[in-house]
Amino acid sequence: MRKIVIAGNWKMHKNLDEVYSFCKAIKEPLMNKKFDRVLPILAPSFAFLSILKDELQDTALQVAAQDVSCHNDGAFTGEVSANMLASLGLNYSIVGHSECRNHHNDSNEVVREKLLKLMDNGIKPILCIGESLAQRDKGETGQVIMEQLEGCLRDVTLYTASDLMIAYEPIWAIGTGRTASGEQAQEVHRLIRKWLADTYKDQLADELCILYGGSVKPSNLAGLLSMPDIDGGLIGGASLDANKYLKMIDIALEHSK
Ligand code: PEP
Repeated sequence: MRKIVIAGNWKMHKNLDEVYSFCKAIKEPLMNKKFDRVLPILAPSFAFLSILKDELQDTALQVAAQDVSCHNDGAFTGEVSANMLASLGLNYSIVGHSECRNHHNDSNEVVREKLLKLMDNGIKPILCIGESLAQRDKGETGQVIMEQLEGCLRDVTLYTASDLMIAYEPIWAIGTGRTASGEQAQEVHRLIRKWLADTYKDQLADELCILYGGSVKPSNLAGLLSMPDIDGGLIGGASLDANKYLKMIDIALEHSK
């Protein structure tokens, strides 16, 4: 049975004091919950990965990076390699977020290179894909999703479903307060799962976690989780608030019963 993943993406938010107070606020509540089928993840900036990991080491929470370099090492000022992330003991990293695609021109080919570097270093990628509003309005959503899957996962071997997570994030719903309806998201999640079954195996497609991202918050999470192919959220804004983050974990725990 697939896990329900509540993954917070903090983007470039929170300074050191704010990171410490968030950890303080969630540590005990997390320790008092039973996480059989729910996986809490938080992705702080590179600067605070170790701090989050140390502060929350006694909890079920997994710390993830937000991005990774497509290079192994060398003269790449400002970049962080998959080997560096692995040496911190990280198990997850977001890759292909639309903000990286837009601001840093990450193409599907570059996202694929990054994804392979993560996998080579034992880190599970959370691969983000999603269409723009213009593409949706032109009826191109399915085609864009297929191109992204084919481009980012070309000749990528997946041994088991836990080698990868996919996050469907329609760009028009990220940080806009405009969520895709459960039905809109489900339609795309179903398409992604079908592509996985056609490209890999039915069992892998059945077991791989596909998250939805785009203005997820406590008030709309339960509706999204009620869709058969939505296995959790990649959550920006609402994950910055400790109470909201804990509330979303409680919703996931309730849903997992
Ligand atoms: C995101 O950061 O991937 C995201 C979906 O942000 P938000 O929840 O704020 O829309």
